[in-house]
Amino acid sequence: MSELAAFTRDALDRLDLGDRPLVIVDVDEVVLRFVSHLEAFIGRQGYRLEARSFGLTGNITRLGSCRAVPAGEVAALIAGFFAAHVHDQEPVPGAVAALARLSMRLDVVLLTNVPAEHAESRAARLTALGMAFPVVANDGPKGPAVARLAQRVAHPLFFVDDGPNHLVSVRDTGAAVRLVHFIDDPRYYRLAPDVPGTWLKTRDWGEVATRIEAALV
Ligand SMILES: [Mg+2]
Repeated sequence: MSELAAFTRDALDRLDLGDRPLVIVDVDEVVLRFVSHLEAFIGRQGYRLEARSFGLTGNITRLGSCRAVPAGEVAALIAGFFAAHVHDQEPVPGAVAALARLSMRLDVVLLTNVPAEHAESRAARLTALGMAFPVVANDGPKGPAVARLAQRVAHPLFFVDDGPNHLVSVRDTGAAVRLVHFIDDPRYYRLAPDVPGTWLKTRDWGEVATRIEAALV
């Protein structure tokens, strides 16, 4: 298991969890739109996203060029996107209603790999949209963070994320967690590799809520 950053560990340990099942939910591309917003943002700077494979690196070009820009340039674009838009990303359709519904029976924790300096702004945005759940900023694969929470929760535990790397990381901790692979963007949904061990793969929040509720009885 890889290292858990101190700021993540401390935030996890401060969470006030009830004696209920728990759903741990990613933010970008799961409850807030990401790919479509990023695409518009980079478009205004003369870049283009063409989703030919799962991932961003390798699929972003400068307008007029067919050569993909290097990973460092992609990372800089993503950093610029968060600085400009973490406060106004729109919700993924159905997410607000589904989380409100699930929160009647489960605790909800939002586990996000947003840069730590934007975590407060992200929490404020989520609250403004009606998703006032605890937000924990993570760095790197999410397995260690989820495994730490799993130690405190005896009930069914669910993890929802768009990133195959995070699903694999959580799965490989061996914690008893049902994995939900959720991707809002239809192109990336089609391109995403199937992760062995996934319990549900969907881009429909109503289906997520229905399946989780059914698993509780
Ligand atoms: Mg995500």
